[in-house]
Amino acid sequence: MDPEGPHSLTRRRLLYLLSAFAAGAAVGCATSPVTGRTQLMLVSEEEEIQIDRQNAPFQFSADYGQIQDSALNDYVRHVGQSLAARTHRGHMPYSFRVVNANYVNAYAFPGGSIACTRGILLSLENEAELAALLGHELGHVNARHTAQQMSKGKLTNTLVGGFSVVAGTVAGGLGQLAGTLGSIGAGALLASYSRENEREADALGMEYMVKAGYGPKGMVGLMDMLQSLSKSKPGTIELMFATHPMSDERYQTAVKTSQTQYASAQNLSLSRERYMDQTARLRAMKNTIEELQKGEQEMAGKKLGDAEAHFRNALKQTPNDYAGLVMMATCQIVQKKPAEGLRYSEAAKSVYPQEAQAYNLSGFAKLQTRDFGGAYQDFNTYEKVLPGNPTTFFFKGFSLEGTGNKEEAAREYHRYLQVVKEGKFAQHAYGRMVEWGYYKR
Ligand SMILES: [Zn+2]
Repeated sequence: MDPEGPHSLTRRRLLYLLSAFAAGAAVGCATSPVTGRTQLMLVSEEEEIQIDRQNAPFQFSADYGQIQDSALNDYVRHVGQSLAARTHRGHMPYSFRVVNANYVNAYAFPGGSIACTRGILLSLENEAELAALLGHELGHVNARHTAQQMSKGKLTNTLVGGFSVVAGTVAGGLGQLAGTLGSIGAGALLASYSRENEREADALGMEYMVKAGYGPKGMVGLMDMLQSLSKSKPGTIELMFATHPMSDERYQTAVKTSQTQYASAQNLSLSRERYMDQTARLRAMKNTIEELQKGEQEMAGKKLGDAEAHFRNALKQTPNDYAGLVMMATCQIVQKKPAEGLRYSEAAKSVYPQEAQAYNLSGFAKLQTRDFGGAYQDFNTYEKVLPGNPTTFFFKGFSLEGTGNKEEAAREYHRYLQVVKEGKFAQHAYGRMVEWGYYKR
């Protein structure tokens, strides 16, 4: 492995970008693949793909991983690929998946890794709306919005070196694990687009969906759904609107464009029946997903008892739901009930062993009971499943310290300090390294 840690390249790149601006020199330009106009661009296509590969797996895992219903996943991938083939950057390594998260969202990383949540699939009414959603995300990738924002220095807090920033500002000390349970803050790795970006992604989305044979009304239906959700269930859609700013203008533009520019495509199919067939199993879980949405809202408001009641209702209906089990485990651990937390995280591990979060949680539950050896095993497995999260280096070190293995603990603390320099964890790790004689003060 790179001796400086997996994030050293992006951090070096960030420094390069910042210094390039400070010096007012070395400004690169590139032709926009979409408009043909010249745009400020300091990020190469290879870097877009690399940033995608480094960040996307963490976001997917924070969203409880790809859904285990492979037929539904294949269906969404198929719709996505049929649009991707008609984009301006058809050569990009696009991939599509549904993630187990319950809130309403969809997002794209700059190399073309695209996800939508099961929460948003539940709210769509036909395949053309799904095509509009994926087309919009493809629009962001094709117009290179993330790379553009990085070039303007606006994304330094999220994608570039996002991990070290997030990991370094984790709330609370060692005794308060709640803030670290998710490992990354919700949406911390997602780009926030401007209104201008949204306009462009909407226009491209409609272009791609019509080329793929879908009626442009799908985009109108999507906008309509998002707007009505913002009134009926604002909490479930907060993050989507924070990253993709919504406006009445977007809806009006979709209506107008569908009737003018795409008037001749008005009668293309919306494929409602096929969408309903393909999502039937998911829609049968509507009550479960809605209970989980409510529970998440209560958790966000720190009403842990109410959250627990909703999670319990959800698990009564769907006992093996991975997201439900992980949320319940988190809720128990935050309430300092490690035995219950462990029980739910073990259940989550057994229903979805390829996903990382449950290992993290059982590690925290074991730390609460001072089972340091057991906690180390869990954090170690977490790192095997999802490598590169510096917070895990710290907790591996902390567990090893608890077992009395200073030498191995120091190795992990050193790895952590290579990536994160500030915050309570860094202070703890640095203090031990000095105390044990590995670092000179
Ligand atoms: Zn957007």
